[in-house]
Amino acid sequence: MIPFEFLLPYSLEEALSLLDPEDPGIRPVAGGTAVMLMMKAGVLRPTRLVSLHKIGARHAAIEVHANGELVIGGQAKLADIERHPGVRAGWPLLAQALRGVANARVRSVATLGGCISHADPHLDMPPVLSALDAHIAITGPQGTRRVRAEDFSTGYYETVVRRDELVTGISVPPQAGPGAYLKMTTRAAHDWPALGVAVVLKMNDGQVQRASVFTGAATDRPTRLHQAQSVLERRGLDANALRAAAEAAIVEAPLMGDAHGSAAYKGQLLKTALPRAIEAALRRSRSHA
Ligand SMILES: Cc1cc2nc3c(=O)[nH]c(=O)nc-3n(C[C@H](O)[C@H](O)[C@H](O)COP(=O)(O)OP(=O)(O)OC[C@H]3O[C@@H](n4cnc5c(N)ncnc54)[C@H](O)[C@@H]3O)c2cc1C
Repeated sequence: MIPFEFLLPYSLEEALSLLDPEDPGIRPVAGGTAVMLMMKAGVLRPTRLVSLHKIGARHAAIEVHANGELVIGGQAKLADIERHPGVRAGWPLLAQALRGVANARVRSVATLGGCISHADPHLDMPPVLSALDAHIAITGPQGTRRVRAEDFSTGYYETVVRRDELVTGISVPPQAGPGAYLKMTTRAAHDWPALGVAVVLKMNDGQVQRASVFTGAATDRPTRLHQAQSVLERRGLDANALRAAAEAAIVEAPLMGDAHGSAAYKGQLLKTALPRAIEAALRRSRSHA
């Protein structure tokens, strides 16, 4: 391993001052679960790691604000978010999806900021945050900007975050209605997904007023399935409509093959997963009614 500096700043401002927009060898590190694996594999050879471990407890806060919004600090651990009573009560989709990410050991150190910044297309949380209409706060020398979760990733391991910026928060509006995340894996249930589908349905008088449907893992970034959404909004949620939405989804999704299966295989997974995700969302909402 090539020697590198490991710096432990005590504030966000100090952490930002240690980054460099021109130097790709300088990287922030949060939980380190992805960074360490990339370093061991030799695909990341940093000259400097800037640890976010001690930048302050407020950056790990999980709060439900008076306007109903959930605000999660970039340094909040996945396990703490999953167990938070406010999250469980108001954002059951978030809690449900988090329970399926990796394993308890990873979730107890990995942060939500590190998770989304990693931008591996197979991550479970980006399609979920996108379906929930979340926004990501990104802080740099010029201050903080907000981008929609669905615009955050720009491709394989790429995001809109610049080298001198950090993800400092994730804000999630109230969950609009029944939601579910379905993760299809080819090995163990908690493995990386071959395909993920996140669904949130805003219902009005038994009708779908607005459907948010995203897929992940089979595309190079979380992808909104506009045609499938439109079928659900026009035709409702009976078996024929669900089948039509799934057919629309496999036509519109830019599916890509990888080590978890070919694009054609992922198409079959999507066809199965989309109706199941919607049925799971409705089942959960009935059991909580
Ligand atoms: C065994 C194992 C199994 C896994 N299985 C799954 C799975 O099934 N599903 C799934 O979704 N994920 C899975 N993961 C991935 C896991 O979710 C990520 O490794 C983790 O979320 C990354 O968070 P972290 O805080 O450890 O980030 P780090 O490893 O610290 O950082 C990850 C990346 O983000 C950058 N970064 C970190 N924090 C910030 C910040 N605040 N602002 C900007 N950039 C930042 C780093 O420079 C690095 O590029 C698995 C990981 C492991 C090790």
